[in-house]
Amino acid sequence: MLRLYDTATGAVAPLEPRDPGSVGLYVCGPTVYGPPHVGHGRFVLVYDVLRRYLEHTGLAVRHVSNVTDVDDKIIARASTEGRDWREVAAESEQQWWATMDAMGVLRPTEVPHATGYVEEMVDLVAALVERGVAYEVGDGVYLACDAVDGYGLLAHQDIETLRASAGARLAVADEKRSPVDFALWKKAKPGEPTWGSPFGHGRPGWHTECVVMSLALLGDGFDVHGGGLDLVFPHHENERAQAVALGRPFARRWVHNGLVTVGGEKMSKSLGNVTDLAEIVASSDPRAYRLLVLRAHYRSPLEVGAPTLADASSALARVDELARRLDAVGREMPQDGERAPGSGGGRAASALADAEAVAFADAMDDDLATPRALAGLLGAVRRANSLLDRRDVAGGAALGRAALDLLGVLGIARRLAEEADEGVLDIVRRRDAARADRDFATADNLRAELESRGWVVEDSPDGTKVRR
Ligand SMILES: [Zn+2]
Repeated sequence: MLRLYDTATGAVAPLEPRDPGSVGLYVCGPTVYGPPHVGHGRFVLVYDVLRRYLEHTGLAVRHVSNVTDVDDKIIARASTEGRDWREVAAESEQQWWATMDAMGVLRPTEVPHATGYVEEMVDLVAALVERGVAYEVGDGVYLACDAVDGYGLLAHQDIETLRASAGARLAVADEKRSPVDFALWKKAKPGEPTWGSPFGHGRPGWHTECVVMSLALLGDGFDVHGGGLDLVFPHHENERAQAVALGRPFARRWVHNGLVTVGGEKMSKSLGNVTDLAEIVASSDPRAYRLLVLRAHYRSPLEVGAPTLADASSALARVDELARRLDAVGREMPQDGERAPGSGGGRAASALADAEAVAFADAMDDDLATPRALAGLLGAVRRANSLLDRRDVAGGAALGRAALDLLGVLGIARRLAEEADEGVLDIVRRRDAARADRDFATADNLRAELESRGWVVEDSPDGTKVRR
């Protein structure tokens, strides 16, 4: 079972789902006001891999990640550019998904938008006011953090310490009662988007968005709340505070990924604006950044630079080389060739594959130790290549296929640029039609055409399947 660090307790503990067989995961998503940067790429990849691994272990994952589509930064950019704030948000969101798709990130199962939940947020603020834990002043409605049990749990600081440091940061006297109190509802300022509420026109505070959407979609006491380390305080502390103040059980586990550091002259000279994620994805193999992210433990800081990206690319070249060799092996011998008569190594070959799967699970179950998992798999790729060099086809194929399958769990096995496009899918459809008509000559010609384009063609009960 996966053991995962919990920011709240500061300890690693087994992840025991609320509902057996499925996991509810909420991850704070982007505020869509500009192009995604490498820090975004890291958090998305960390939770993409967490989800893929949970699914690999047989759990169904409900993965909710929000889009903050109304916010100070969106409004500020729209006003600078003389555009509608909705247009800025929609355009930035489009850029976001284009980049994530290029990186092979699984789309969340649900993507709630802040503007779609304003009514629910107003209800939550009203409920907090009714309970006497929130109060209205001239510029908005605030949560009284003193009234919240265990405020400071995630920050690992008591409320007095937090109040002292927040008070020191406040330059201008505020209407709120305590420096730690935070806005649940911000009353309308001229020129800003607003919604109606019992507390006057305005818009919800950011911390209210995530508590409302996570509870609405995943229910009380959902399994995992994730996000970047920079969100622990105040964002996640304040999300939790609202749930506690409402008397609703909130996330059972808090997971936070480390931040990305970008530094070093060499990198900025050779790559230019390396912090732009779309540029990294466009200028290198999109899997390289994923590999780089997974080579660091998710809770550690990650340095991104040209040398580390280049190193990731060369490791991927070895993976692709193995995939090509296994495709060739697949064409020469039956798929279960490792058990072919005369190889004599059937049992040994499958033992090699089993050992890889066990080592992979051991590493991943240990608080997602992806550096160890990857080192093991890339080592297996090298060993599989040398077994094939030595003509141990059975051993090389068994070990190599196991390694590629497990790399696939991390989202790395296939070249993302080689997904079948419409043109290829059209040939696949024509071939299936020909086979249905028992026109095998045409079907064979179409198979040859697919193979000449570099695709491996397989017949399955559902029709033609192609892969690289
Ligand atoms: Zn959030």
